[in-house]
Order: sequence, then structure tokens, then C-alpha cells
Amino acid sequence: MRDRLLHIFQETYREMHPRTPMPELTVEFFAFVNINNTVRLREGKLLVRLSDLLEGAPEAVLRAIAHILLAKMYRRPIARPHATCYRRYISGRDIARKAHLVRQMRGRKRIAGAQGQTYNLEDIFDNLNTRFFHGLLARPQMTWSRDHARNRLGHYDPGHNTIVVSRAFDHPRVPCFAVEYIVYHEMLHLKHPVKLRGSRRCVHSAEFQAEERLFPHLDQAKCFLKRL
Ligand SMILES: [Zn+2]
Repeated sequence: MRDRLLHIFQETYREMHPRTPMPELTVEFFAFVNINNTVRLREGKLLVRLSDLLEGAPEAVLRAIAHILLAKMYRRPIARPHATCYRRYISGRDIARKAHLVRQMRGRKRIAGAQGQTYNLEDIFDNLNTRFFHGLLARPQMTWSRDHARNRLGHYDPGHNTIVVSRAFDHPRVPCFAVEYIVYHEMLHLKHPVKLRGSRRCVHSAEFQAEERLFPHLDQAKCFLKRL
């Protein structure tokens, strides 16, 4: 199947470019969420990814999609019969139903948000805001990360005005003060935007660090997070 597919793409390329040398070609099926087909040119190599919903499609359909992708890649007009053939196939009832199922299965997103299993980040923010900032900080979007990576405890993303905390800490074994410390640290980033000192980015300025030391469980929190 893979060989036949590769052969189809090579023939289609040859029809479009009778004389230019054939680039190295890779064609693979890929589990996209939607019926999606992509072609990229990287360092002179062509990489084609076809929706795995096209696995087992009739030869005419595969020829049609090869033509469409390569025509797009090389800015050639798309021949009407190929366009029609491909469109008919994917709008056919079987494929449309399969595509719908696949979308439901693969498209289910973990909605990240402030409410975790153990801790609610908005509550933590509001509480810290009252205790340490006179309630003066405007609450950004608060969210647990999608994954459980621990290499970054948390971060403030000014572009999206969002504080993200690693989901690894949304656990009853993690004491509240540890999560509070992570959020507190990010709130200080919100309060002290990164300054440029000469050409050096100063992320944790002296004022930042002085204010961080006001957190009552600083040493315990750092100690706990280091052990984790
Ligand atoms: Zn920091």
C-alpha cells in the first residue's frame, strides 16, 4: 500500500514536472482529527501526510489527492476532474460517518481550567491577592497545565495574560502552601514585569526577590518542591 501510494505521488510529480529531478518523497498516513492532508517541502524533501481515513481509498481517489496536493505545493491549477473525484469521495456517506466518529474520539480535548481535582487556582489567587496585594492585582486567566510536567512549576504568559501551574501539583499530597507559593511567585511576575537592564533580561529583580521573601512559608515551600 505504502509503495503503491509513493508510486502514485511520483507519477503525479512526473506529469507536472517532466524534466526536473524527482525530490526525495515520503508519504505516510496520519491520524488527523479532521480529514486533512498536508504536503511540506523541507530541505528539498517532500513530506506528504494523508488522513488515515483515506487508507483503502480507490486508486482514482489517491491519484486525485496526489494531484491536488502537488498542484497546491507548486501553485499549479487543480484539474476539475480530480477535484470532483476527491470531493465526491470524502462527502460520501461512509467516509462522512467515519470522519464524524473520528472527530468525536480524537477531538475530545482536556479542557484545562482553574478548577483542579484538589485545588482551585482562582480561589488561591483571590486569597493571596487579599493577603499580600491589598486585592489590587487584576486576576489573569488561571489554569492548570494540560500535562503533568514538573520541569516548570508554573509560568506567567503575558501574551495571553495567563498564569499556568503544572497539574502535577493538583494533588492532596501537595500542601496548600506549596501551590500558594507557586501562584504567589507568578503573581510577582504579574506585578514586576520583566525589565531590560542593558541587554540583559532581568526576570527576578531585587524588588521581586525582596517581595518573594515576604511569603510566610517560603523555605518550607521551596524545600517541598525541591524534594518532589
Ligand atoms: Zn520566576
